[in-house]
Amino acid sequence: MARYKDEQCRICRREGQKLFLKGSRCYTDKCSISRRNYAPGQHGQKRAKLSEYGTQLREKQKTKSYYGVGEKQFRKYFEMASNLKGVPGENLLKILESRLDNVVYRLGFGTSRAQARQFVNHGQFEVNGKKVDIPSYLVKPGDVITIKENKKDNATLKVNIEESNSRPVPAWLERDNTNFSGKVIRLAVREDIDLPIEEHLIVELYSK
Ligand code: SF4
Repeated sequence: MARYKDEQCRICRREGQKLFLKGSRCYTDKCSISRRNYAPGQHGQKRAKLSEYGTQLREKQKTKSYYGVGEKQFRKYFEMASNLKGVPGENLLKILESRLDNVVYRLGFGTSRAQARQFVNHGQFEVNGKKVDIPSYLVKPGDVITIKENKKDNATLKVNIEESNSRPVPAWLERDNTNFSGKVIRLAVREDIDLPIEEHLIVELYSK
């Protein structure tokens, strides 16, 4: 996925919502949405009314931005979700929540999904005792995610763990700060996912 480097705030401003892409800064009054809640660019202050297609497209783009997933992978997840039992939109969100980078973020080991992804990419985590450096790895119930023994002194991780006490861990996960680990109790259900996403719009878009 082509990524904005220092322009994550522009993505939030385009969507008109906080997407929490920058970690700690998102929780302070330095957040760009708090200061300039209008779209970036010359005509940003005049938000045009979106067509039905435009609304569906923005919902998809917003969801991709939340999870940091590119179009190809997102489409693949949608196809997986459509082949599962249940509501496709909810299945899609469940799959996205099951990504290892998201789980590391949800457990509070990363302040943003982007930071969590970087930690995973750098081989800082193990799943069930084995190194997994693939952010898109999908966790299963019972999986135990642990910070690698030789990474437990990482200063950033230590600060994140200390500060994570103020961020609740979702009911489908369990965090063990003493052992620098977390467990997947069960997969997420829609009620666990606190993001303001109207997933039916994504389903409608892809069903055209
Ligand atoms: Fe979005 Fe965070 Fe930037 Fe606020 S600080 S606009 S929530 S990325």
